[in-house]
Amino acid sequence: MSKAILTVNAGSSSIKFALFPLAKPISQKAFVSGQIDGIGADETKLIAKNQEGEKIVNRTLAGVDGGKVTHDSAFNDLFTWFTETYKEFEIVAVGHRVVHGGELYSKPTLIKPDVMKHLEDFIPLAPLHEPHNIAGIKAVLKLQPNVPQVACFDTAFHRTQPEVAQLFGLPKKITAEGVKRYGFHGLSYEFIVQALPEYSHRANGRVIVCHLGNGASISAVVDKQCVATTLGFSTIDGLVMGTRVGSLDAGVIIHLLRTKNMSVDQLEKMLYKESGLLGVSGISQDMRTLLASDAPEARQAVELFCYRIVREIGSLVAAAGGIDALVFTGGIGENSREIRRNVCEQLQWMGLHINHDANAANEVFISTGRSLIDVLVIPTNEEWMMAKHAQTLLGL
Ligand code: ADP
Repeated sequence: MSKAILTVNAGSSSIKFALFPLAKPISQKAFVSGQIDGIGADETKLIAKNQEGEKIVNRTLAGVDGGKVTHDSAFNDLFTWFTETYKEFEIVAVGHRVVHGGELYSKPTLIKPDVMKHLEDFIPLAPLHEPHNIAGIKAVLKLQPNVPQVACFDTAFHRTQPEVAQLFGLPKKITAEGVKRYGFHGLSYEFIVQALPEYSHRANGRVIVCHLGNGASISAVVDKQCVATTLGFSTIDGLVMGTRVGSLDAGVIIHLLRTKNMSVDQLEKMLYKESGLLGVSGISQDMRTLLASDAPEARQAVELFCYRIVREIGSLVAAAGGIDALVFTGGIGENSREIRRNVCEQLQWMGLHINHDANAANEVFISTGRSLIDVLVIPTNEEWMMAKHAQTLLGL
């Protein structure tokens, strides 16, 4: 039997997973990966693809006692499918993506009862995500009690930010309660930072990494350590995202509460689910749809997306004391030549020049020889990063 590490990213209605056979080094391509979508909805599907990207399963899952699929039953189905289909593998560790590690966790951590208690304590910091991460850990614990589980925190990478970068201008008492800038997408940044030296000799310098997906953020990294990032206390700060608002004058929230009589839940829904590219365009949260549309609203949403990126890069370059390399990653960063070109053309003042052919071909290195700044496109791999963390932590 071969040993393997399972990675899990449990969200409110989905569980993403990937299986990595144990090896030194672990292959960056998962042996099998996929997701269970629609947990708690009328239809729940298990979809998986193999190493070559071919779909190997697309199955509707049955709920419990005629009801809907829960996190528990979804994990049950996932493990049953795994053990039946991949008899040759023994899962020796599970790596979980956990959104919040508070001020306590700056590294991946073996999950023990005291860690579980801390994760529960972090729920108020990330009420939309942390409970689902915890549900995933508990479900695996029930099914595979002897398999070690490792929490890989999205906030951990950002614990190196100087204190001043973590502070809001709030009264001391509120700050002391943990209302600070934390930062997220840490696993993606860790992956880019460890991958960059292969492509750029400026990897140890001042690097700005743009993680542009449905959720989006940018980090300033100096000597491989985060010094500033656009996401803050929650996952709605900074850039305009698929459905999330990004940086917002706090006065707008007071205004909405006062004049629209909105409840906290309504406000939360608007800022997390109805804003961003979707809210501005009124058409879609999907960048591909917006880029393909001639509607002025779609163009305006794309313009705002790029404008906010350029403004935030300016601010992060100041925090890093300069810039040696700029990296694009995430679904939009990896695939959209239009967005990269738009952003880079607005940054020519800093001596940044892209090679349009290389950019159009989605090559890794897309800056010209005369550019003062290396510009790179590197696909992220958060799942592999989790598997690597689990392997290192457990000495596998
Ligand atoms: P998530 O944050 O959910 O992991 P992804 O990193 O998968 O999101 O990014 C999803 C976004 O990437 C969507 O807006 C999608 O339209 C965009 N995207 C994917 N491929 C392309 C492409 N070829 N051109 C432009 N945008 C793309």
